[in-house]
Amino acid sequence: MIFSDHISVKLGGDVNINKNSLPENRYPIVEVSNVRKSYMLGDMEVPVLSGINLKIEKGELLAIMGPSGSGKSTLMNLIGCLDRPTEGQVLIWGKDLHSMSDEELARLRGIEIGFVFQTFNLVPRLTAFENVLLPTFANSRSIDPQKRATELLKLMGLQDRMHHRPGELSGGQSQRVSIARALINDPSILLADEPTGNLDSKTGSEILQIFMDLNNEGRTVVIVTHDPEIAKYADRVVLVKDGEIQYN
Ligand code: ADP
Ligand code: MG
Repeated sequence: MIFSDHISVKLGGDVNINKNSLPENRYPIVEVSNVRKSYMLGDMEVPVLSGINLKIEKGELLAIMGPSGSGKSTLMNLIGCLDRPTEGQVLIWGKDLHSMSDEELARLRGIEIGFVFQTFNLVPRLTAFENVLLPTFANSRSIDPQKRATELLKLMGLQDRMHHRPGELSGGQSQRVSIARALINDPSILLADEPTGNLDSKTGSEILQIFMDLNNEGRTVVIVTHDPEIAKYADRVVLVKDGEIQYN
């Protein structure tokens, strides 16, 4: 365990928002219900997901596996409210995304969901510290975002890299910055889409360990990965294949 002694204190320490507006105890964090998703290629409709049902409970570590092109990223983008389904519902804390205005949805996404990508998606011109702070400009529930950004970067072992730009960081360091960024608003759920896909296997294991530690401290984590190791630690592994979820 890299930082399990301190993580809950540090991560929850200065969070200052009333979550009572969300009925979080009565509902799963995420419920995907009869979701279909197609993309339009010219005037041809290409179905990607057909009839997905999935509930994600608070505190769960869920691994999503499946062949390339099977729709894993499409599903993650729907769970993360980055995209809307063609049919069916995505509910966050029991609330239908369809019933929300764009503004409400953006706030929900900014506060409740932390996203980590395979290619890190850091802003090249900003330092590590500025990248971590970036999401707080739109929405924040921290009373002192700068302090929190500093603490998160320290927690990720990057205290001496805070003022470096992404071009001066290794892949593993870049991914740690992007995990810190995903945690800056203390989200209910952390989504990671092949977060080790661009890393060597040793660095990849270290990054996976961070997600497992975060989950052990109570954070809900959904991870898309090809790493069979994760199956040992995940509460559930689901396989996406032919546009559907195949449960074991
Ligand atoms: P995975 O993450 O499992 O590799 P994706 O969800 O990225 O799969 O993609 C599933 C299928 O949807 C692929 O065939 C891909 O080409 C197609 N697809 C993904 N995004 C788009 C898009 N924006 N427009 C058209 N087709 C897309
Ligand atoms: Mg993908």
